[in-house]
Amino acid sequence: MSLIRRGDDGYEAARTGRIFNDRHPQRYPAAILRPADADQVAAGVRRARAENLTVSVRSGGHSWAAWSLRDDALLIDLERLNRLDYDPATGVVIAGPAVRGGLDLAPFLAERGRAFPGGHCPEVGLGGYLLQGGQGWNGRRMGWACESVVAVDVVTADGEQVHADSEQHSDLYWAARGAGPGFPGIVTAFHLQTYEAPAVMWHDTRTFHPDDAAVLLGWLHDLLPGLDRRIEPVLAATRLPGETTLLLHTTVMAGSDDEAATLLRVFGDGPLAGKELSRVTGPTSIARECVAQAEQSPEGYRYAVDCTWTDAPADVLEPLLSRLWRELDTEHSFAIWYGWAPDHELPDMAFSVQGNVYLATYAIYADPADDEKYRTWVHERTADLARHGTGVYLGDTDFTGRQDRFLSDEHYRRLEEIRAHRDPAGVFASYLTADRERLNVHG
Ligand SMILES: Cc1cc2nc3c(=O)[nH]c(=O)nc-3n(C[C@H](O)[C@H](O)[C@H](O)COP(=O)(O)OP(=O)(O)OC[C@H]3O[C@@H](n4cnc5c(N)ncnc54)[C@H](O)[C@@H]3O)c2cc1C
Repeated sequence: MSLIRRGDDGYEAARTGRIFNDRHPQRYPAAILRPADADQVAAGVRRARAENLTVSVRSGGHSWAAWSLRDDALLIDLERLNRLDYDPATGVVIAGPAVRGGLDLAPFLAERGRAFPGGHCPEVGLGGYLLQGGQGWNGRRMGWACESVVAVDVVTADGEQVHADSEQHSDLYWAARGAGPGFPGIVTAFHLQTYEAPAVMWHDTRTFHPDDAAVLLGWLHDLLPGLDRRIEPVLAATRLPGETTLLLHTTVMAGSDDEAATLLRVFGDGPLAGKELSRVTGPTSIARECVAQAEQSPEGYRYAVDCTWTDAPADVLEPLLSRLWRELDTEHSFAIWYGWAPDHELPDMAFSVQGNVYLATYAIYADPADDEKYRTWVHERTADLARHGTGVYLGDTDFTGRQDRFLSDEHYRRLEEIRAHRDPAGVFASYLTADRERLNVHG
């Protein structure tokens, strides 16, 4: 087990080397521990208690706000906890928290004819992704990824190791599906139900002029309630071709090529049919889509992000979105409209806020001098949308910039009770927020 203290050689690389967002906050842990297994994680928690340090955690390093960096904490970096064990009898895979959904889990399962709704971007760690919900490939059909977590192995605030599922330590199991960085423990392994891999994946990609936004959004909102759950429609405002373009990128998982082509036909029948700037339909794969996602969110840049769920109609959203989309002013910055349209009651778990449509904006830039400008812009424009919103998805938030509700009031209260019981001394760092009093407050 390696321990690097502040001031030691290698400290800065250990502090920031695995953080995806190049906007590295000036927060400095007292020490960074890199355990090799769950026993060493437990020893780390006991050491932190003995040294009176809070504990922060890192799995894949993809939190936009770098939640793993907390002043004067013991940062437990789980990079080496990346095992994958599959049981063909149950279809359950046991995955370490540093396993990456696209790069590690998807190919491992594909070799076995199985699939799991891992994140759209290949390098995101399962740890943060699953704890906060997990919006992944085929998510509209398979639900939130955390709905497929059947158990978690957890190191508690006392430094004990427990197995939590619906029967034992069920409070931790409940919290592990939605609490995100407020989870009162360290997950050392996730037990995930996998599914038979769909035979084919297709995409339908069309680009439109921003002037068509009103017609496009109106049509998509009309389409959404009846849209087959296997279809994932994402409208992205992107500047990658040089100027802002609306890219309607739709994927579908199906049993055959014919079925996929039939399911996607609905996108050729819209009011803008024939007016697209470009269109391509055909077979794709999670591996190919992951490459495209990684290009869309490149490494080596600074990111300011925010999001909101909304049930508002297209005509309310369109003027706000059109303004935001036209203001995108860097090569890589983009914003998405994701037609989610929840269709089933969520299981009893912490995760509890969603909406008809998911809106997220990613300002992507290189110059540190622009940090304040883009942070302010992304949070102000999202706040305009959030006035018509239902709350946020933790995955695209930064509560040091803008706060909003991420759990229902009832689930937040229940989580606070679990946290008070499981971690009364506040060993784990919990949510990073500018205003603790306004945590989970909507509006
Ligand atoms: C490029 C990019 C693409 C993304 N795409 C998607 C997407 O398609 N779908 C989606 O849902 N989200 C997506 N996200 C958001 C992402 O899922 C979250 O930021 C998530 O928190 C990242 O998990 P991580 O383990 O990589 O991050 P980390 O920064 O390592 O972890 C974030 C925090 O989660 C907590 N945590 C992590 N692991 C553990 C653990 N084992 N035990 C206890 N607490 C833990 C800690 O508080 C930690 O600080 C994306 C993010 C990026 C940067």
